[in-house]
Amino acid sequence: MVIEELSTALARIIQETGRNPDAMATITKRAGDTVILAGEEGQHMYVIQSGTAEILNDDMVLDTVGPGGVIGEMALVDGSLRSATVRATENLVLMPISTTDFEALTRHHPEFGLYVMKIMSLRLRLMNARLGDAVEDIAYREKIEGELRAMATRDPLTGISNRQHFAEMASREIDSALRHNRHLSVAMIDVDHFKAVNDTYGHPCGDAALRTLVEAAASELRSADIFGRLGGEEFALLLPETDAPAATAIAERIRARLAREPLSWNTQTFSITVSIGVSSWRQDETNIDAALTRADNNLYAAKAQGRNRVVSE
Ligand code: GH3
Ligand code: MG
Ligand code: MG
Repeated sequence: MVIEELSTALARIIQETGRNPDAMATITKRAGDTVILAGEEGQHMYVIQSGTAEILNDDMVLDTVGPGGVIGEMALVDGSLRSATVRATENLVLMPISTTDFEALTRHHPEFGLYVMKIMSLRLRLMNARLGDAVEDIAYREKIEGELRAMATRDPLTGISNRQHFAEMASREIDSALRHNRHLSVAMIDVDHFKAVNDTYGHPCGDAALRTLVEAAASELRSADIFGRLGGEEFALLLPETDAPAATAIAERIRARLAREPLSWNTQTFSITVSIGVSSWRQDETNIDAALTRADNNLYAAKAQGRNRVVSE
């Protein structure tokens, strides 16, 4: 689930319960501000819309959280006092979620509830691991720290890179392509008529379709390729050491595979198709933005030409 969709879902819940949508107003904090203080009461958890914060446990940084990450979930779930202090490391925009709204959100979007549970469990394990400082605990502690870092880079629904991580990886790859004078291509993928899938079979079925899409596309990729969910039903591929014809061939394999393989949901069988725009980085470009824009334009051309197709330059 991505931030935009989370705020739409929350707005819907607020409206359904007859409250003023102003109840959804975001909260801003400045870098250095204390957002949550250990030992205080708290009625909300927060989803970070922009900026970063650090969670402090006895003055030690337990976790660093960026956009899409959650803070203050423990007190919200168990109704106790705040277990840790959270400080803004950059200016923050936060989306507050109350206990009852969290319950409603989790009913509509179980993956959000599971995501919060997983984060909470990892943070608790880390706090525990830090209580004992025996040498043999170090490997375990590092493993949990690694899992928490990985959670911050992944999209909870599909497990692939989130938008922010995709952008970070893209800038790393462009550096390497520039240094070594190598090819680099990108592709933008958008599911065709996805709204109709949700409308016909329901939102949970749409979620399952997105997961299946990711699995099918990932099986056509190499380990060096970077696959990200940019938002909703839009995905992007970063293909290192790949020129335009090779990238077009990969995109075409993904498109054909999805069009060929039907999905099953409960008793229903249906298929989804995707439109894909491909573009390659040009050697005079110092970042990936122009290539992404060209890929996006090609994606819109693919939609305009009737969907279920790949367009490259
Ligand atoms: P087009 O072929 O032009 O792309 O049509 P479309 O229906 O795919 O495009 P549109 O942008 O109108 O609709 C996208 C839909 O994707 C609407 C939104 O509800 C759905 N969607 C976005 N994120 C998710 C998600 O995480 N889960 C589910 N089930 N649906 C999602
Ligand atoms: Mg779209
Ligand atoms: Mg679409």
